[in-house]
Amino acid sequence: MYRTKTCGELRLANVNETVTLAGWVQKVRKMGGMTFIDLRDRYGITQLVFNEEDNKELCEKANTIGREFVIQIVGIVSERYNKNNKIPTGEIEIIVKELRILNKSEVPPFTIEENTDGGDDIRMKYRYLDLRRSNVRANLELRHKFCLAVRHFLDSKGFMEIETPVLVGSTPEGARDFIVPSRMNPGQFYALPQSPQTLKQLLMVAGMDRYFQIVKCFRDEDLRADRQPEFTQIDCEMSFVEQDDIINTFEEMTKFLFKEVRNYDLGDKPFLRLSWKEAMKRFGSDKPDMRFGMEFVELMDILKNTGEFAVFNEAEYIGGICAKGCASYTRKQIDELTNYVKSPQIGAKGLVYARVQEDGVKSSVDKFYSPEVLNHMAKEMNAETGDLILIISGPDAMKARKQLCELRLLMGERLGLRDKNKFALLWVVDFPMFEWSDEEQRLMAMHHPFTAPKPSDIPLLDTDPAKVLADAYDMVCNGVEVGGGSIRIHDAVLQAKIFEVLGFTPEKAQEQFGFLMNAFKYGAPPHGGLAYGLDRWVSLFAGLDSIRDCIAFPKNNSGKDVMLEAPSAVDQKQLDELNLRINPSL
Ligand code: ASP
Repeated sequence: MYRTKTCGELRLANVNETVTLAGWVQKVRKMGGMTFIDLRDRYGITQLVFNEEDNKELCEKANTIGREFVIQIVGIVSERYNKNNKIPTGEIEIIVKELRILNKSEVPPFTIEENTDGGDDIRMKYRYLDLRRSNVRANLELRHKFCLAVRHFLDSKGFMEIETPVLVGSTPEGARDFIVPSRMNPGQFYALPQSPQTLKQLLMVAGMDRYFQIVKCFRDEDLRADRQPEFTQIDCEMSFVEQDDIINTFEEMTKFLFKEVRNYDLGDKPFLRLSWKEAMKRFGSDKPDMRFGMEFVELMDILKNTGEFAVFNEAEYIGGICAKGCASYTRKQIDELTNYVKSPQIGAKGLVYARVQEDGVKSSVDKFYSPEVLNHMAKEMNAETGDLILIISGPDAMKARKQLCELRLLMGERLGLRDKNKFALLWVVDFPMFEWSDEEQRLMAMHHPFTAPKPSDIPLLDTDPAKVLADAYDMVCNGVEVGGGSIRIHDAVLQAKIFEVLGFTPEKAQEQFGFLMNAFKYGAPPHGGLAYGLDRWVSLFAGLDSIRDCIAFPKNNSGKDVMLEAPSAVDQKQLDELNLRINPSL
């Protein structure tokens, strides 16, 4: 037997017991005739003591040990003189009687402690060492607990976990697919699923009634902090349901998960529901961070054509936010905000500000407006003495709102209003069915093409499709879209109509989605569902800035696994088998 106890479980009650422990050496300290070793395993750290006076030979052996050696010891649990209240085993130590080195280790490339000296790249290259750090491991433990709780809840509600294939067909609409060449079918390709969307719908046609799957999905997109090329969804689908049934089920699951996994009580009240239109109007985002207010105030009536400021007079949108107590911002601080909104990723033309002071409103557009207009504006914004008003305008209302949203988030951050230990959840509902794509010069499905339109809007599909609202909903937590779904179309004729609006010819629709439309001819039940982003949930629960930290082996921002050195070139033989040729000019 390699061990009788783990490194995390011994307490005062175990004093005088003889134990065998095994683990990694986190730290070796020599003090006079004594050598102390911190022994680590997944469960914790236990202090080992070697005393030269007791056993010189053993102590000398201990002195040859380096960081990350794997050792086994037999020793006696003893009460510590200098107790360490920072760790659960801090009241005891082990007086070592026998020591066996199970494996040596080279000096690790960074310190394997909570606060490491290793940068991102090196930690990713040696991720197996990074994962030995207790804070990184804790994220995986949380993830495991989360998945267990999800399975437990969904099982109790009659959901059945069903696996769907990873090698599927490529479908247009949505993100770019990862594709996999087929050796047995030369010149043909599988795609990795962006989600099991159509398959879960087919499971509903198959009568499975309630499905879920904790499933890997793949999207070949440019990466950001909350995106990975492969990520995990909690994918769910239900038959014979309306929007409220789904919302109620998953609201209950969310409350359960918060309680069970995060020990956080979301209360009994239902989550707020905002229509997409209202969310955009009040927060400039379809995933508003509701931990704080700072709502947009539209100022078109007050500032357009009431002064000589051409930028406002030409604007399609003028809106402001009020940053409480920020009138004291210096010119330099305001310049910083201006540079931020003018940066290429935000794209605003400029920022207008107004300080509300004892002696009146002082703004960057004073010379264009009368004090009455500016006072009226400050009043409309509910601004008080000491507040700073920040205004963004633009020729495209939607773009200007999104820019103001970024500014709101930044100010929320600066004012400490985005506390990671506070959670604000809501549903955003009534999304538009389609959005115009400048790139494609056509309407695209805002959610996906299988989303049902609001029944009352179906006639608009022929007359004004851009106005059609969808029976779709997103769950948002702290400004992050944690999940989303919709009621689906279950009627082959309506589904064909949607493909037509999306610009598919009947032949193309049949070629791409014939399998689904044909299935709908054989008694498809009304159904709907949603998918949660597991990585996003776990990182929110853990208070992480990036989803990478809750994934055991993540990819970097260029989509690479630097540890496995993937992707990589393959042998010519493999290419030949697949009938593929690499263009050497690439
Ligand atoms: N399949 C959808 C997605 O991945 C979610 C859903 O509608 O259930 O976004």
